[in-house]
Amino acid sequence: MKKKLIAGNWKMNGSLAANEALLKSVLAGVGQAECQVAVCVPAVYLAQCQALLADSIVSLGAQDVSSHEGGAYTGEIAPAMLKEFGLRYVIVGHSERRQYHLESDEVVASKAQRALACGITPIVCVGETLAEREAGKTEEVVKRQLAAVIAINGHCISEVVVAYEPVWAIGTGLSATAEQAQQVHAVLRAQLKAATPSADRIKLLYGGSMNASNAASLLAQPDIDGGLIGGAALKAQDFLTIIAAAA
Ligand code: PEP
Repeated sequence: MKKKLIAGNWKMNGSLAANEALLKSVLAGVGQAECQVAVCVPAVYLAQCQALLADSIVSLGAQDVSSHEGGAYTGEIAPAMLKEFGLRYVIVGHSERRQYHLESDEVVASKAQRALACGITPIVCVGETLAEREAGKTEEVVKRQLAAVIAINGHCISEVVVAYEPVWAIGTGLSATAEQAQQVHAVLRAQLKAATPSADRIKLLYGGSMNASNAASLLAQPDIDGGLIGGAALKAQDFLTIIAAAA
């Protein structure tokens, strides 16, 4: 059976002291989790977190990567640089990057491609805004966002992780219901099935105010293969409860 993946997205939070305390608490409680676990940390803390997670079952991830291989792109981080820190995952196309950094579907798709080329699994985020949901455009938006990634990545699409993150649910405490989330996940799964015979092994995560109370019902849905967790990943006990719910 496919193991679920619980990935924390720390966003722009943390400090040397806070990271150490958080990861030590997570490692003390995680045991031999029956699911895969990752934390996607701010880039400046990759070396620290790599050392803290050494020989543990918790994988390391980043929150963004350049769509370029290297060169004159001030402030950008190339996938090969991330790889040097033992990264397994990188988030691409988070709605905060699409919104504040104007990342297009095509840029997100090429970030995913660059990550794959370096052996890093991209966690590709898709999701609709509240206005798009209210206009009945949820399916159209997520399919358009995923189509760009499928188009550029060809048969490698089976190597990505997809995270459905309704924008209106991120950091708001307003999670999608399990039924709403499953409905969109089924749409994404069908789209992936049309693109690759390996679609069933692609992990589809739900993200958007997943927490210790709602994780079990979300994770029980047939097409929800894990979670991308923001706020709750910053509290060791909440993150551990979500991990336990995914086991
Ligand atoms: C996120 O930022 O990816 C996220 C899901 O955040 P939160 O869990 O805080 O809604």
